Order: sequence, then C-alpha cells, then structure tokens
Amino acid sequence: VIVSLSPDARPSTCVALLAAAAAAGLESRPLPDGRGGDVLGVNSALPTNALQRPGVAAVQTTHKPYRLASREHRAPSVVRVGEVRIGAGRPVLMAGPCVVEERESLIEAARAVKSAGANMLRGGAYKPRTSPYAFRGLGEVGLGHLAAAREATGLPVVTEVLGPEQVDLVAAYADMFPIGARNMANFPLLRRVGKTDRPLLVKRGFSVTVDERLMSAEYVLASGNPNVVLCERGIRSFDATTRFTLDLSAVPLAKELTRLPVIEDPSPGTGKRSLVTRMALAGLGAGADGLIVEVHPTLTGPSATPARPSRRRNWRRSTAAGGPFTPR
Ligand code: PEP
Ligand code: MN
Repeated sequence: VIVSLSPDARPSTCVALLAAAAAAGLESRPLPDGRGGDVLGVNSALPTNALQRPGVAAVQTTHKPYRLASREHRAPSVVRVGEVRIGAGRPVLMAGPCVVEERESLIEAARAVKSAGANMLRGGAYKPRTSPYAFRGLGEVGLGHLAAAREATGLPVVTEVLGPEQVDLVAAYADMFPIGARNMANFPLLRRVGKTDRPLLVKRGFSVTVDERLMSAEYVLASGNPNVVLCERGIRSFDATTRFTLDLSAVPLAKELTRLPVIEDPSPGTGKRSLVTRMALAGLGAGADGLIVEVHPTLTGPSATPARPSRRRNWRRSTAAGGPFTPR
C-alpha cells in the first residue's frame, strides 16, 4: 500500500508508521513522491485502517504488480545525471559510439556529439556480444578512455555494466549504467545496481513484454535505487528487413503506466542509419524524454561520403541533419 502523509504531518508520524509496519513484520520505506511530499510504501496485506492516523492523508492499495514504478498515486519522476535532468520536459540526447575504441576517436566523437547538442556521451567498454568471437570491448582501458572524454568535454558518461561483480569498477567511471537488452532480466545484477544510487537505463529485451520490462525496473526500485529510466530499443518480430522492430507505442504506454522517464534508442531499433533520424523524431513525437543514439566519427557503408578533410561535417550530416530536429 502507498501511504501519503499530509503536508502538515509531523516527522514522528512517519517514524510511528515505519515502527508499526516493522512490528507487524512488514517491509516499509519512505518514498519521494516527486512533489516533495512524504509517501510511505508498505509491503503489506495489513488492513488499511491500521495505517490511518492523524497526519495520514490517504492510504491507497496499488493494483499494479510494479507498484513502485507505477504512476498510480505518485507524480512522474525526474532522474538527474550530474546537471542533466531526464524527464524534466526537455529532451535529453545521449550519443556516442557503440563500443569504445581508441582514445582519440572517442574524444573526437565526444566533441562532435557535444557540438551537435548532445548532453551525455555513450560508449561500451564491456560489450554483451551475441557471438563470443566478436570484439567484446576494451574493458577497464575503455573505461579510462571514457573518463578522458568526459574530462575533455564535460559530458557525463553512459556505459554498460554486464555483471554484479563489475558494478564497483564500472561505477568508478560511469555516470549512468545502461542495463542492456541481453541483460535486463539478470536479476542478481538488477538487485546489485539497485543497491547503488547510480542512475540506470533499463532497456527492453528482444522478446520481453512491456509488463516484464516494468518488473525489471521494479527490481531496481525495490532494491532502493529510485533513479531508473526506461529505454525502448526494438523487439524481435517476424520481419528481418530492419534489425529490430521499434515498438513506438510502448513509449507513450510506459509513460501512461509508470512514473519513470522513457527514452528511445533508434539505432538497434532500426539497424539502418538512413532511418535513425526519422525514428528519433517519431520517438520524441511519441513522448520520449530523450534519445540514445549510436554515432561514429568515421562513416562506412553506402551513404558514406569521403572522410577527409570535412569528416566532422559529414558526421553531423549523417546523424543530426536529415530532418528538422537539431538536438539540444
Ligand atoms: C548497445 O547500446 O550497444 C547495446 C548493446 O544495446 P542493446 O542492449 O539495446 O542491444
Ligand atoms: Mn550497439
């Protein structure tokens, strides 16, 4: 149940409620409600009248299985990463290479995405590859490159953590952890990152329903970390023409069901550079609080234009232009 305290409730009311819940053998905790008011979550089948007392404005039973993520009874949350605020009304743009390679190319990418308006730098040091023979990232060396790129640009760094045993190491470098599509049902990992206060991006697995993904987010919230952002990155369908099928309706749906900010990742969502800008715009049109986009300073593929001497301009054309949206 969610217990909302009235604005004039005494601090002792909250303490007494926590004590009453503990005496009944129930878990409870104070929750920020997004508006600065006090709210208490009690994991309980306790009769609601047992929680009624002076200073309590409402005792509400939640009907959603994802009770902490749910939008019932609580205002939408804003997740802060340094000075960046996700869910505060202005779209946030995270951009950078899929995988961290050389330090110089990462710094070049970081400068380019910053000048195109990105707020955060993404890049994988530990990559969850489908094939064990693929390049799985530079590991801690890559984390060092990310720290150097942050130093050079001031952009906070978003980099994936693959297992519970890596959390302390990656947390020493990362400003935000994505929990990737291949790992978002790794419950020991979700519990472990839930014990940190590091902001998290919980991506949607290839074959995972909207509700299942919300339960993954709930694992983190129930472990004590309120800083969760959802990320829609495409699911598997019968159609292999695009790499994945971007489930755009899941963006406004998640905003309707939960209080969590939602961003969209059009890069795996399409797997085609030519489609990224329009699907990014579509995501923002669908109400996304931001985007995470893969970019690389060196173009390859059929639409690549000669790299030098105007390499950066070409990079910008491939990612930010091509549509009316100038990321800010
Ligand atoms: C990535 O961002 O490079 C990545 C592995 O993402 P996802 O987990 O969505 O596949
Ligand atoms: Mn990638």
